[in-house]
Order: sequence, then C-alpha cells, then structure tokens
Amino acid sequence: MEVRKLKNYVAGEWRDSNSKEILDVYNPSTDEVIARVPLSAPEEVEQAIRAAKEAFPEWRETPPTTRIQYLFHLKELLEENFEDLSRIISQDEGKTLDEARGETRRLIENVEVAAGIPSLMMGCLLEDIARGIDEELVRQPLGVFATIPPFNFPAMVPWWFAPYALATGNTYLIKPSEQVPLSQNLIFELIAELDLPPGVINLVHGAKDVVDRLLESPDIVGISSVTSTPIARYIYQKAAESGKRVQAQAGAKNFIVVMPDADLDRTVPALLTSFFGCAGERCLSGAVLLPVGQAYEALKAKFAEAASRIKVGDPLDEATQMGPVISRRHMERVLGYIEQGVREGAELLLDGRGIKVAGNESGYFIGPTIFDRVTPGMRIAAEEIFGPVAGIIKVEDLDEAIDIIHANPYGNAASIFTSSGSSAREFKYRVKCGNIGINIGIVAPMAFFPFAGRKESFFGDLHGQGQDAIDFFTEKKVVISRWW
Ligand code: NAD
Repeated sequence: MEVRKLKNYVAGEWRDSNSKEILDVYNPSTDEVIARVPLSAPEEVEQAIRAAKEAFPEWRETPPTTRIQYLFHLKELLEENFEDLSRIISQDEGKTLDEARGETRRLIENVEVAAGIPSLMMGCLLEDIARGIDEELVRQPLGVFATIPPFNFPAMVPWWFAPYALATGNTYLIKPSEQVPLSQNLIFELIAELDLPPGVINLVHGAKDVVDRLLESPDIVGISSVTSTPIARYIYQKAAESGKRVQAQAGAKNFIVVMPDADLDRTVPALLTSFFGCAGERCLSGAVLLPVGQAYEALKAKFAEAASRIKVGDPLDEATQMGPVISRRHMERVLGYIEQGVREGAELLLDGRGIKVAGNESGYFIGPTIFDRVTPGMRIAAEEIFGPVAGIIKVEDLDEAIDIIHANPYGNAASIFTSSGSSAREFKYRVKCGNIGINIGIVAPMAFFPFAGRKESFFGDLHGQGQDAIDFFTEKKVVISRWW
C-alpha cells in the first residue's frame, strides 16, 4: 500500500510541500509507517502566515453572528465524522477507541462553547462617568495567532484554542505535532467544506524549524502552545522577545492522596483510569500515589491487583483497556525510568516490561507498572515519566502529603480521595496546583472552564478555554465619549 505524504492547507487550498525533509509517521501499535509528514520549508511557513494576515481585515469585520455559522457547520461535520476521526486518533496516537472518542467529544465541546462568542465577547458601557460623559469597553481581535500542540491529544489540543481565535475574529495557523499529524488533516478536510474565506485558518506541518519561524515572525501576534516544560520555557521566552502574547501549557507530575477514610472500592477504579488511562500519556495522569497512614496496606494490594488485570492491546479492539505508548524512542525512555526506579531501590510491585500483544508484536507496549517504597528524592518520584508507571510513597498525614506535592516543581493537577469534607476543603484550599480533584482521578476542565496549570506546568497568565480564552484572543479598548 502506498503511504501518502500529507499536504499543508494554506489560503483555502491543499498545497504539496517542496521540503526535502520528510518524516515517517508510525502506527504505535504495529510499528508500521502510515503516512509521511513534510517539515515545511521557511517560505511555506511564510506563505501561510501571509495568507492569515491578508485574511484578517475582512474576517475581523465579519459579524460574530456570521463567524459562528462556520463553527456550527464545523460541529455538524465533526459529529458526522465522529467515528472516523476517533479511529484516526487511535491509530495515530495509540489511545483506545473509547479514549479517542472522549478526545473528539471535548474537541467538539470547545467548538460549541466558542459558538457563544456574540455574548462572550461583549464589552460594557457605563453612562455618566461624569455628567454627560460615557465610558465603554470593547474587545477587539488582534491578528494572526498560532498553536504548537503536543502528541498526546492530537485532534483536541489545537481546538482548545482555534475555535475561540476564529470566533473572536482572529485568523489562525495550526502546526500539528509531527508525530501525530493525521487527525488535523482529517479536520482540515472538513474545514475545506466550510467555504471559509481563504487564509482564515491554515495548516502547516513541521517541527522545531517551523516553530522557530512562528516565534520569530513579526506577523504572529500570539502563540498557544502545549508542550513539555523545557520547550514551553523556550517558546515563552522566544515569543516574548517579539512582544507576542503567550499561553504555554507544560509538563506535569501529578500526585494523588488517598486518606484512610476513602472508599477504596470506588477509589481504585478511578486510580486505574488516572494512572494507566491513555497509557499514562496525559498531562493530567496520576504519577505518584500518596496513601495516608492506614490507607497504605489495603490500597496498595487492591491497586496492584486491579492494575494487573488491565487488558493491554490493540487500541482499535473495543476490548482493549490500554494501548501502546507513542513511539519506540518514548518506550525506551519509559523503560529507562523503570530501570532507574529499580536502581534507586524502589520495589517493583507490578512490572509492565516485556509485555507481548498477540498480533501486534512490534507495537510499543508497556504494561501497567507500580513501584512501592518510593521516596520523594528519587527521580521516578520527581520527574515526568509520561507512561504507565505509578509510584507509591506512604505518608503519615495530609500535611506530609501536601509538603511532598509542594516540593515538586510542577503544578498541573492533584487529587484527594476521602470521605471527609474537612480534609477535602483543606486540600483544595492549600494545594498549589491549577486543577484539583476531590474523589476525581482525572481533573479535565470542561471547555467553559480554564485549564489552570501552575508553576512549571504553565507559563503565561491567561489559560486555555473558558473566559480566559476570550481575554487571550481579544484586546480591550476603552472609549470615553462626550457629545455636545
Ligand atoms: P514536546 O515538548 O516534545 O513537543 C510538543 C511540540 O513542540 C510539538 O509540536 C513539537 O513539534 C514542538 N517542539 C519539539 N521540540 C521543539 C524545540 N526544540 N523547539 C521548538 N518546538 C519544539 O512534547 P510532546 O512529547 O509532544 O508532548 C508531551 C508533553 O506535553 C508532556 O510534557 C505533557 O505533560 C505535555 N502536555 C501538557 C499539557 C498541559 O495542558 N499542561 C497537555 C498535554 C500535554
């Protein structure tokens, strides 16, 4: 079967890249090449930026009520192609079909929320700030924005931002993760059916060089990125040099506290989803379990037993509960962390190495892995592994658990499992993370709430989604007027 080379979508048309640099895209459950993605040449990136810049004046003047009609149409097309898109995500990224369906649903929810822009984008007016003088505030779009997403939610993450950018009257450019470019290509096939004015939204494939072009371009006014922390820091600094707006979501190491009063029968299933859902490749995945006092013995036994029963396999098989990790390189990185944990003296309670999936022998599979007797100083307790590896650190009380959470540089998410209102209240009040779960293992904010990472998990001030998105994609202008 011939493997197709993906095209860019610029100025309302599909364009073949002339770049000589082309990467293979792999199906992580089979190790087969399923597409080829060009690393677009500098002039191709420039053409896309120019197309978006030229489309801006007319798009900005298009009434919001008209702009959102395109989003309504896009939602319809996404619903019609829901299963196809979910299958492509699953094939390209390796998450199970059900997890991919969840991703597609959240993508669509963001389109739905942005369709409320005529209300969300309204300004305000106060009459008579002095006698006969009125003051008003309006929100205006700024120009061309771009997004730099990660591999793990290849369809959804660009659409945490794009719907709000478009609805508020900006024009847009998406550079998909070069590891998983297929779902954006399908989405742009749907966009091509919308009859949007050319250049309003563009797709340019590539990697670091394309990112650098976007960061350096004086014609890009803002960047929304979702990457690992070192890349987020780089994007934040480099984009700020040219005065761009930046929201740079970054890496994570999420801790989950289980109090002695937690209902373990309900807690354990939530923990399985948190630690091993999406093969641990979620920025909201649990990474370290902190059982408090007497919770420890029973929890560790139940957690390990339940995790050992997770069915690892081909993500397109509906019976599969956990798919592969994204790439051979990443699999080796995760395996390296498991070896590191053993060297550091943690006790391997459940070993996911060497797992073979019948029919998918070449896939990048790692089974659920649990380390007990982890200490906060170990690298497996501190660094982001981004795979199906859990560590257990037994703590004496909630104070000790919160101290461990705070000692970690990340601040994306943290959860507590408890039946005590006062423990839950103390946790949500004190913990310095942006997304807090109370008897919830994956704290994924709905589209109308911001995705609120902190510390080394976020660089910027306005978050993605929710009202923050409206603020990020608009500039406030104040007008004071008097008429004689
Ligand atoms: P990554 O940092 O390797 O790459 C992400 C993006 O940055 C890609 O589009 C890539 O092309 C680009 N990139 C890579 N190297 C670059 C460089 N040197 N210069 C400029 N651009 C570069 O991340 P990944 O492995 O694709 O994704 C996983 C990471 O994303 C994890 O750290 C995870 O926690 C994080 N993430 C965070 C959130 C969040 O909301 N905080 C959500 C999802 C993923």
